[in-house]
Amino acid sequence: MDLLQVTDRGLWCQAGDFHIDPWRGVDRALITHAHADHARAGSRHYLCSTPCAGILRERLGQKISVDAIPYGERKTINGVTVSFHPAGHLLGAAQIRVEHRGEIWVVSGDYKTQPDPTCAPFEPVRCNTFVTESTFGLPVYHWPDPQTVIADLHQWWQHNRERDRTSVVFAYSLGKAQRILAQLDGEAGPILVHPAIESLLPHYEAEGIRFPKTQTATRETLRETAGKALVIAPPAADDSALVRAAGDVSTAFASGWMAVRGMRRWRAADRGFVMSDHADWRGLNDAIAATGASRVLVTHGYTQPMVRWLREKGLDADELATSFRGEGNEE
Ligand SMILES: [Zn+2]
Ligand SMILES: [Zn+2]
Repeated sequence: MDLLQVTDRGLWCQAGDFHIDPWRGVDRALITHAHADHARAGSRHYLCSTPCAGILRERLGQKISVDAIPYGERKTINGVTVSFHPAGHLLGAAQIRVEHRGEIWVVSGDYKTQPDPTCAPFEPVRCNTFVTESTFGLPVYHWPDPQTVIADLHQWWQHNRERDRTSVVFAYSLGKAQRILAQLDGEAGPILVHPAIESLLPHYEAEGIRFPKTQTATRETLRETAGKALVIAPPAADDSALVRAAGDVSTAFASGWMAVRGMRRWRAADRGFVMSDHADWRGLNDAIAATGASRVLVTHGYTQPMVRWLREKGLDADELATSFRGEGNEE
């Protein structure tokens, strides 16, 4: 019997009687990170990494029962040892290590290997079986250096200011938006953030993450700063009245999907900045190799090509059928 197996509620550890990122309510849920397809309401007890707890409560409600443990600290649940290790995906995101009778599994959750000033870097963890995500598991996905992308973004902002145009960047409200914000030059001009993004900032600040000065994006502030500001808004705010209040705007999407031309057109933005909180093809391969795992289970995204590729390399690879649908705009 496998240490972890998929049930109709999610990934289940029978020996420890707990689930990891269950998609239905369970008694005890271990959560890799606070994105909606991993952290669902309805479970009786939650366990997550310390930096994840505040965001988890913000999203699932202050009344949920949450235990949090620091990265690397071990906890025993019904004789099974579990620990959380940085996944580099966003603040508090963890890979979950599960050990029982000498067998070690690691469930990656979502991860990236690129640097991100808003979270702890991805940490390779040795294991026998690695459950990996594969959102961008095709060789066509290759991320540029994030510093170059941020420099391009500043240049675009300056170009727009010179033309009296407001710059609007659409980025997923949890993770991507804060990652961009933390790297913006607050001296370059006013920075406005959508309330859905702003409400998460205190959780980051509580973990020591610093941001430049921002204002809440409202009709008034957008009007006052029109032509100068950079606005960060979630993709759902795409054509909202809020953005229209800014007058003449240039829009951009920050996403891994921007690496594909068709996606860019589909998004109808003026610019696409290729920035993902998931590993690219190389990142996935490096991460998998670093675990030393002989068995790899693949979930999320391009699972079949990844399984084929890993088998060609001599690994025992399989698809793991889960209900994670991918966060779409998050990437
Ligand atoms: Zn995620
Ligand atoms: Zn995900």
